[in-house]
Amino acid sequence: MRKAIWLLNGIFSVGTLLAQQPNSYYITADRVFDGETLHTGWAVLVDGDKISAVGPTSQLKPPAGAIRIQAGNSTLLPGLIEGHSHILLYPYNITDWDTQVLKESDTYRTARATTHLKKTLMAGFTTERDLGTEGAGYADVALKRAVNEGLIPGPRLLVAGRAIVATGSYGPKGYDPDSKIMLGAEEADGSDLVRVTRDQMGKGADIIKVYADYRWGPGSENLPTFSLEELNLVRETANSGGRPLVVHASTKEGMRRAILAGAETVEHGDELDEEIAKLMVAHQVTWIPTLAATESISRYRGWVKGKSPEPANITQKKKAFQAALAAKVNIGMGGDVGVFAHGENVLEMELMVEYGMKAIDVLKAATSINARAFHLEGLTGSIKTGLKADLLIVEGNPAQQIADCRNVKWVMKDGVVYRNEF
Ligand SMILES: [Zn+2]
Repeated sequence: MRKAIWLLNGIFSVGTLLAQQPNSYYITADRVFDGETLHTGWAVLVDGDKISAVGPTSQLKPPAGAIRIQAGNSTLLPGLIEGHSHILLYPYNITDWDTQVLKESDTYRTARATTHLKKTLMAGFTTERDLGTEGAGYADVALKRAVNEGLIPGPRLLVAGRAIVATGSYGPKGYDPDSKIMLGAEEADGSDLVRVTRDQMGKGADIIKVYADYRWGPGSENLPTFSLEELNLVRETANSGGRPLVVHASTKEGMRRAILAGAETVEHGDELDEEIAKLMVAHQVTWIPTLAATESISRYRGWVKGKSPEPANITQKKKAFQAALAAKVNIGMGGDVGVFAHGENVLEMELMVEYGMKAIDVLKAATSINARAFHLEGLTGSIKTGLKADLLIVEGNPAQQIADCRNVKWVMKDGVVYRNEF
């Protein structure tokens, strides 16, 4: 069954496929998580690429001709939303970041990325916010187009293009200063930030991503990069072009400047504490913790979870997560996937539970909260009439045991079934 669907997707564009398949579905599962609440005895009706009705089975009957999906011991959810990915990267324990950026061609990396996108969609992630190509130019813009045209399977994408860094701050680092080394993002400073922001928007960036702090020298500590004035300039330029500013920040000062400048999301936030948490709440900033990246990098350095002593950066991240929970910061879900394997996105959700969040809240973070934070609430992230038919069925009850999100049985995006194990 799965193979047959694949074959169809490989041959026809999505539009053709829709025209050839009956496009009405009546779906029932033991539980329906609508993006906010868990319901029992519910059904969901899909017509074409949209959800046409949702409600108790007593009120919502299967229309004639609809394909029936009956999922026992299962939970139906909105398609998950990955909040922080790098589709043009793959795990650093396979190939280190410098080598990927400096030695692999954009063509090779793009070919590889098509398999990353497929794995992501098959894992139930129907939307993905990709935060920088790390040296692969605007390959993300092209990949997004290929997905939208139905040429390759993948989640709907929001892309950042090259991303922006302050001169001298970003990697690859530690090479002979005489050699011209290609960087993982685009450098700009001062008033030039206006030109670079506009150029990136013009080339297809949906998001303007800026690094507010970084390790200035090889192996050295994180320190702020852009001034508040510079960040304000980027935000003003991005917003006037209809794009949000999203900021990579690990240090307190980097986060403070990002929040005050009007960043919509703060990525990583390793040094988040009570003071920063309050500032985030006051400015309605969403935090994307990327716990899975922190843990993965420690593992690549030799840490064996549960055996070796906990590295200081993980202890700190747990403290940051607790501070954010206590202050009721709006926490979204994004793992910085690419640092670890595409398709393993659920790892971030498991760690969010491990670090103290309720499983049901993690499900919200990965669906309705991410959707709102990324301005997609009118499109996806909830099971509501009128939204896109982006749906996922997993075996078990992830509201009790988050790891059940790994038991993917069925994935639909835009009303098209991409995975079917019934
Ligand atoms: Zn990242």
